[in-house]
Amino acid sequence: MKLVFATNNANKIGEVAAVLNKRFELMSLADIGCTADIPETADTFAGNALQKARFVKEHFGLDCFADDTGLEVTALGGAPGVHSARYAGDHDSEANMRKLLAELEGKSDRSAQFRTVIALILNGEEHVFEGIVRGRISEEKRGTEGFGYDPLFIPEGYDESFAQLGMDIKNTISHRARAVAKLLEYLNSL
Ligand code: IMP
Repeated sequence: MKLVFATNNANKIGEVAAVLNKRFELMSLADIGCTADIPETADTFAGNALQKARFVKEHFGLDCFADDTGLEVTALGGAPGVHSARYAGDHDSEANMRKLLAELEGKSDRSAQFRTVIALILNGEEHVFEGIVRGRISEEKRGTEGFGYDPLFIPEGYDESFAQLGMDIKNTISHRARAVAKLLEYLNSL
């Protein structure tokens, strides 16, 4: 059964394909010839993930899932949230981290969480799966692995940032890993 993952990120596709029931043939946006800049204009992760999945279903008639992720910082009222990729500059991680540290200056509550929402459209039904990892924002950047806000995010139960802990640990406890696990549990039960 063909199932589209509404992304062209080869890492994300590979991660899911490796653990997905082989009855599903996983396809990327490039695989189905989708070159459109799919709108993500909702103000929630679920809204954006559903918007992307519905776009593929509507235009290509294929079952599909899509994800949306971001960092939510308590003292900033949940910011940067759905604006995580473009908080300071367009996919400019260094600028985004600088802005986050500046916004948190002098604030004692540094708690935060990453949240991933995956929306699935399958057999005419919509499903939503969510993964969260709680933690805190460090005072300065630490470590070199990963991407985005990883050098600033220290997950609960650890003293090192995601960028110091490395991919093996991150991939077992991360927001994305948790959401993907729920998606797979559902798909592999069908
Ligand atoms: P996306 O929805 O997966 O593209 O994520 C949106 C933005 O959230 C990214 O551009 C990053 O800034 C941030 N982000 C998402 N996942 C992670 C992560 O695992 N570590 C650090 N930053 C992340």
